[in-house]
Amino acid sequence: MREVFLLKYGEIVLKGLNRNFFNTMLEKRVRKALKSVQGEFYYDYAQSTLCIWGSDDADMDTAHEKLKKVFGVATVCRGIQCEKDIEDIKEKLAQYAGELLGNAKTFKCDAKRSDKKFPLKSPEICALCGGVVLENCPDIKVDVINPQRVITIEIRDRAAFIHGNGEKGAGGVPVGCSGRAMLMLSGGIDSPVAGHMIARRGAAMDAVYFETPPYTGEAAAEKVRTLAEKLTEYCGEIYLHSVSLTEIQETLVSTCTEKYFTLLLRRFMVRCACKLAEKYGAGCIVTGESLAQVASQTMQSLSVTDAVATVPILRPCIGLDKEEIVVRAREIGTFETSILPYEDCCTVFTPKHPDTKPDMAKILEEEAKLDIEGLVERAMATDHFVRLDG
Ligand code: ATP
Ligand code: MG
Repeated sequence: MREVFLLKYGEIVLKGLNRNFFNTMLEKRVRKALKSVQGEFYYDYAQSTLCIWGSDDADMDTAHEKLKKVFGVATVCRGIQCEKDIEDIKEKLAQYAGELLGNAKTFKCDAKRSDKKFPLKSPEICALCGGVVLENCPDIKVDVINPQRVITIEIRDRAAFIHGNGEKGAGGVPVGCSGRAMLMLSGGIDSPVAGHMIARRGAAMDAVYFETPPYTGEAAAEKVRTLAEKLTEYCGEIYLHSVSLTEIQETLVSTCTEKYFTLLLRRFMVRCACKLAEKYGAGCIVTGESLAQVASQTMQSLSVTDAVATVPILRPCIGLDKEEIVVRAREIGTFETSILPYEDCCTVFTPKHPDTKPDMAKILEEEAKLDIEGLVERAMATDHFVRLDG
């Protein structure tokens, strides 16, 4: 049977006057997500729900996976469409019930009647449809309290639909509704999660990876690229920049006091990331920092890094424990890549005893020994990027 997806919109239905803008953005994201999927897809938006039909040759399983990653969608339902006629509903349910139930042993029917003119009331629809299921699936039992499967019959304005338990969508708001962000993407666990969290709030993402050739190699760069590619499944296209910090790192090592290396380096990273943000139209920087996780993430260290920023730094992981970040990394599929053992550019020159309570005056004293503008300018000249498509 030809199936249909019903995408229930999340909080964007509450967005008042901006609602049209959010809706248009979401439909654009959905169309983009399905662009590379085999088959044609047809769309109809009504009653805070986007209906999507596939052509006969459409790859509905792949489409389903992709739709679950589109931000702005609260629930993804997969089912069939019927005429608004109980006989047609019963006939189609008889054919489709087996597929909807899968291995479930118990079920219940649930009716949603947004068209109040439909001649049958919800309990009557449930009773009739429940009877059809019992007739056609001999091993199944009704359990209205704790069913393994819910079969939902929706009587909407333009048609009726039958679908199984809707699955949770990606939530949030559509990418592009909140401008653009520049994600500082290392090969670690935290920064991909941070990027995902901000994209989920509607920001389109670009990313920058700071490398230190030859101290960091091709494998580390490849790992970051894989992480960025995973993020494109949610964010759509990402321009991934690479900027070399080799000259900066070597200069720090030869000129500055060891315990300040990490913070001095982080200030250079932020300076470069801000320049990129300004050049490519990003309104903020995103990092995977979490309070107290490592020396450079104490309150004092964060304020020392913030002091050089020219755009806001968003740190969505700031209040999360490592374990919570790991759970999210697993959910979004970046964890396995993040734990691959390649050096990132911070760890190559990490001091043995980093300063956890840095004094701004000391940092400025260290920086007075350096040609900051020149170093930043030459680092920025190494910027190159690839466009990764979602
Ligand atoms: P992550 O797991 O994301 O690497 P981390 O716990 O290792 O974070 P740090 O190495 O202190 O923490 O980095 C903090 C943040 O700074 C990272 O989350 C990331 O946003 C950014 N960052 C660190 N190293 C790099 C790098 N080489 N390139 C780009 N951004 C980086
Ligand atoms: Mg790291």
